[in-house]
Amino acid sequence: MKRTWFLTILLLILLAACQSQTAVAPTPFPTAAPPSPAIQPTLPKPTTPPPDPTSEPATPTPETAVSLLPAPTLFTYGWDDREPFRAGLIASAQPILDQLPGAPVYHLIFAVDDALTSLAGQLEVYYTNQEKQPLDRVYFHLFPNLLGGEMGVENVRLNGETAVTAAQLNQTILEITLADPLLPGGQIIISMDFTTQIPTESGRNYGIFATVDEIMALSHFYPMLAVFDDEGWHIAPASESGDVVYADSSFFLVRATLPADVTAATSGVRLERDFVDDRQHLVYAAGPARDFYMAASSRYELVSQTVGETTLNSFALAELEDGATAVLDTAAAALEIYGRRFAPYPYTELDIVSTPTLALGVEYPGIFANTLNIYNLNGDIRGTPNAIYLESTTVHEAAHQWFYSLVGNDQLNEPWLDESLAQYATWLYYLDRYGSDAADGFYQSLESRWDRIDRAEIPIGQPVDAYPGAEYSGIIYGRGPLFVRELADSMGQTAFDDFLRDYFVAFQWQIVDTEGFKSLAEQHCDCDLTDLFQRWVYTQ
Ligand SMILES: [Zn+2]
Repeated sequence: MKRTWFLTILLLILLAACQSQTAVAPTPFPTAAPPSPAIQPTLPKPTTPPPDPTSEPATPTPETAVSLLPAPTLFTYGWDDREPFRAGLIASAQPILDQLPGAPVYHLIFAVDDALTSLAGQLEVYYTNQEKQPLDRVYFHLFPNLLGGEMGVENVRLNGETAVTAAQLNQTILEITLADPLLPGGQIIISMDFTTQIPTESGRNYGIFATVDEIMALSHFYPMLAVFDDEGWHIAPASESGDVVYADSSFFLVRATLPADVTAATSGVRLERDFVDDRQHLVYAAGPARDFYMAASSRYELVSQTVGETTLNSFALAELEDGATAVLDTAAAALEIYGRRFAPYPYTELDIVSTPTLALGVEYPGIFANTLNIYNLNGDIRGTPNAIYLESTTVHEAAHQWFYSLVGNDQLNEPWLDESLAQYATWLYYLDRYGSDAADGFYQSLESRWDRIDRAEIPIGQPVDAYPGAEYSGIIYGRGPLFVRELADSMGQTAFDDFLRDYFVAFQWQIVDTEGFKSLAEQHCDCDLTDLFQRWVYTQ
């Protein structure tokens, strides 16, 4: 049994960080052409009754009264209205709706063409300065210009007035200069129109943004706020090896117009769906969430399962239904194990979608993508059954719903905080579901990753960019989870388990860094972990 597990798990996730594509030359910043009439978003229609006039008005801040800001034009929900998001959260998670008053609110509408290769949209963002200092600029990522596509932005406005903008870093960043500094607690409405061309070949960062084989994978397809933290604005482009997003928890209202024959999987929950001629109009609410993702295809079939208050949806090609069903079984077990060990899964929906991504899997809030190559349960990759890959990938990506989505981190500069911990969580899954032999097998796969770079004692706490070639996989996916287990041994397993549970109480929907992680761990073990972190984590 042990040997079987060792052999079958040994090669796990070899592909996860090893298949980056040749860099694509930066795309030009498109001139401000109006969206094609074929994909012009239809004007939003009212999606809810007008706000209840008897409901409590928003409390004006000293700096800027909400009532002075332009009203939403894309949705009838008010900027502060959290009710649309209630359906997406389990009962015990719903109090968060009253606890993130400064979270960005995205109102996003877009229409996709029949070929699923271009879209045009409008965005309004209700932005609050949550920092301790005035801000004189705001930055948005234009990720399609990094990921092999092409994004153009026009008609950028601040509180309805034309804004001063500049494109930076090969058109991957939009800088907006504020007319007056935005004081802490102050709010502005930023609006813009955008067009996006979707690549038809898998581009960089594992082909996460592409339409291939009639499957549209829309990663980071809209202008997305950058994060400001104690180091300033984070606008540096992501490495090709890792994840590209570092984002604050936000609220998304999204209205998508798609061809009528496609099935869409997204972050959040669907509030409305109606058909007009050969188009369908879909309204979604997602939040708190760090991103909004969509995958869509006319080839998708859906199988579902309910776990507690959460519906699991597995989208795959019709001929791969066995794989889609296996994914449901694995995800249900992972949600139960992680819900017990860490914190309840907060959303009422978790979607797992199969796409042609070149990674084994990629995580997003409330949804993740597995590569469709591993859905044929009769197949294998270099002798390792697809079923093994499908289970371990599903478990790893499910773990990111806790390590990345619920507790966020800077995925570019401290990737160990989500990847190494997701690997450790995968080990816990094998331990809890199958026992120590299976867990040992997975553990040896982690050792093997580190072995492949000769067990180099390279710190795990560095940015993605600092790990050339196989080092990223060997250190972040191999040595990293070995450190977490060493940490658990050092603290004592009971103290460590308590620490992880408290981690999700202390930092839920926030962003944690290495020092925050260490400090909370030290509180739980009543010990000084500096020496241990110097041996494994710190650069010096
Ligand atoms: Zn991962």
